[in-house]
Amino acid sequence: MTEYPKEFLRYERQLILPQVGEDGQRKLLSAKVLVVGTGGLGSPVLYYLAAAGVGTLGLVDSDTVEITNLNRQIIHWEKDLSRPKVISAREKLEAFNSQLKINTYQMLFDPHTAREIIPQYDLVIAAVDNLETRRVINEVCFALEKPWIEGGVKDFAGLITTFRPPQGPCYQCLYPDVNLREKRPIGLMGVMPGVIGVLQAQEAIKLILGIGTPLAGRLLIFDALETRFETITLARNPQCPICSH
Ligand SMILES: [Zn+2]
Repeated sequence: MTEYPKEFLRYERQLILPQVGEDGQRKLLSAKVLVVGTGGLGSPVLYYLAAAGVGTLGLVDSDTVEITNLNRQIIHWEKDLSRPKVISAREKLEAFNSQLKINTYQMLFDPHTAREIIPQYDLVIAAVDNLETRRVINEVCFALEKPWIEGGVKDFAGLITTFRPPQGPCYQCLYPDVNLREKRPIGLMGVMPGVIGVLQAQEAIKLILGIGTPLAGRLLIFDALETRFETITLARNPQCPICSH
């Protein structure tokens, strides 16, 4: 049996993997990942990044926990109702893995705050439910050349893709003219952000370790009712104002 440093023992099962090993674990422990949104997608993203030993996690959310969140936002519990989501999430993560550094940002993620916070991290995970925040993340990540991982869910379906600036395509290429105003709650099985959030966490771990093939230029779509995964290739818009100059 290999003797690992004591602080590595909890990661033994991933240290055995030739793609990880002690060097990979050091990469994970020194990685800084910003998770925008601590809701349905953010819950599994954060749990699994913390479990894998991603050393610094930034949590962005301006909301407080509501009863209607609890069918999917599993990092928040009944005792957390009315508490800020970033505080509730930080508590769980600190209890789960005390080796990690958890930074919280209880604020709206607008272009100004995004430009302040994103430079402190290696990569960004969008775990949000609106197009406006995704556009902010896209614009600032392309300006700063930070990779970001998009996930989206609706009813019984989900999708995920990775953006690696400066190469396109970017989020704006995919959704150039969508209406930003839609606000009504959409129907959603709580399992869906679970599935997609776990995939986002795995994609982030791949990027940190530099292993496998990132989901860049490809969109993975999950249809839960048919239990089917499909991948489509994404094209860069040669006129895109964000990624085409
Ligand atoms: Zn673009």
